[in-house]
Amino acid sequence: MANNSINELQHFINGKKTAGTSGRFGDVFNPATGEVQAKAPFASKAEIDEIVKISKKMAKEWGATASPKRSSIIFNMRELMVKNKQNLAELIGQEHGKTIADALGEIARAIDVVEFAAGIPNTIKGAYSPNVGGNIDVFSFREPIGVVAGISPFNFPVMVPLWMGAMAVACGNSYINKCSEVDPSAALRVAELWKEAGLPDGVWNCVIGDKEAVDSLLTHPDVPAISFVGSTAVGEYVYQTGCKHNKRVQAFTGAKNHLVVMPDANMDQAVDALIGAGYGSAGERCMAISVAVPVGEATAKELVKRLLPKVEELKMGPYNDAKAEINPLITRKAQERVEGLIAKGKAEGAGLLVDGRGKGKNLQGYENGFWVGGTLLDGVKEGMEVHKTEIFGPVLSVMAPVDFDKAVNIINNHEYGNGTAIFTRDGDTAKSFMDRVDVGMIGVNVPIPVPVSFHHFGGSKRSKFGDTQMYGPESVVFFTKMKTVSSRWPSGIKEGAVFSMPSHK
Ligand code: NAD
Repeated sequence: MANNSINELQHFINGKKTAGTSGRFGDVFNPATGEVQAKAPFASKAEIDEIVKISKKMAKEWGATASPKRSSIIFNMRELMVKNKQNLAELIGQEHGKTIADALGEIARAIDVVEFAAGIPNTIKGAYSPNVGGNIDVFSFREPIGVVAGISPFNFPVMVPLWMGAMAVACGNSYINKCSEVDPSAALRVAELWKEAGLPDGVWNCVIGDKEAVDSLLTHPDVPAISFVGSTAVGEYVYQTGCKHNKRVQAFTGAKNHLVVMPDANMDQAVDALIGAGYGSAGERCMAISVAVPVGEATAKELVKRLLPKVEELKMGPYNDAKAEINPLITRKAQERVEGLIAKGKAEGAGLLVDGRGKGKNLQGYENGFWVGGTLLDGVKEGMEVHKTEIFGPVLSVMAPVDFDKAVNIINNHEYGNGTAIFTRDGDTAKSFMDRVDVGMIGVNVPIPVPVSFHHFGGSKRSKFGDTQMYGPESVVFFTKMKTVSSRWPSGIKEGAVFSMPSHK
């Protein structure tokens, strides 16, 4: 049992809060103070088996529900998300630590996808070809696949479960969100809101767990699809294990996003973009810009001169401090990992222009939180650990100056290809950049190019495993299976048995 004085969280299963029965718990921290504020139950294999049983039964019922009816429930959810955004932002802030303004931004991007999902009758439409030969009509339509498991990361506790799940249930599937165990409360609240919206109990379940829960989903014969968002090491494992068990799997994973600054860039805009995209959410975003690549010596000098005072002034603070720009990291382990990488960068020869380590000690009342202040490295080169590794902290690396071709090569040589951006006023350069980089999402004078819901989200190289994209029309392909019917109504047709391969000729 968890310690009585600490709130014990519950899963949300079959429309009800449900206490965990495994006897295993993890700590949920207040990252700003370092205190444990709740205990999260870790689901066992037996609990997962029970949830899958419920989900399988409900997938049949929900899958047979007319798509306009599904759409109207999703529309209700959209309204509830808007109505409850402040409460959701609080829950995110309390456990993740990001500021209310940042959490509201996350929720807005979740609502964007819920809105797209509400248009499912149009997106899921099939195709019809009359008289393809011999009076035969052919039509194709898409059916739900059944139970979809969505394994989500800590850094977007509302947005990512909804990016996957809203499209999964719109397509007529039931959905099991294995939310992050370190900040589960907002994801649990999302599950409650679906119930309020009118989604039948058991169509959207939210379960807290660790590797045991994930492995149980990955190997369960009644879970045909897995959508994963998280780190590359875990995503690759999830992809390979899921595929080995004959599931369809999409895994959106780690990143190292470069922003190229051309000599002709609007320098004010480029610097603001780097500050916001580098340090917003303390760098704990898969689309954070963590590397600036200045083209030319003069650009590099100017960039560093302008970045330095801004990074020094970045204000750390808890989620409910309206002036805070940098939030604490998610755990002590994450803090120590980021501090270790900063030390490594310095040891490998990068210039440590602003060092954010230890700055939390000066935050009165928050001295024990998981803080790392804004950190700026320069003279970073390929091969250094700080360039190879996804730091996932408030650390911006400015690379030693290069020419444009080399900038493109640096991006293409990197193992990750989630996002990238270029700041320039020249159309030819921008066009050449977007044609040549092997990266899934590209910004031209846009630092965080997360596509809107009616396009698609997804990276390249080791930032994504599997072929399909997150949300947008292509996500319907992932969350459904296709049937194609060739039909003929035989009045007046007398063909006899045909032994050669049928053809329309
Ligand atoms: P994580 O990989 O530690 O955890 C993700 C999920 O996997 C969680 O639900 C967790 O419980 C589960 N998990 C963790 N270890 C596991 C194991 N050994 N076996 C099975 N399941 C396991 O990631 P995180 O720290 O929660 O999130 C940060 C990472 O997610 C970063 O690498 C970030 O780039 C990435 N991310 C990627 C995208 C994207 O779209 N590409 C979006 C958001 C976050």
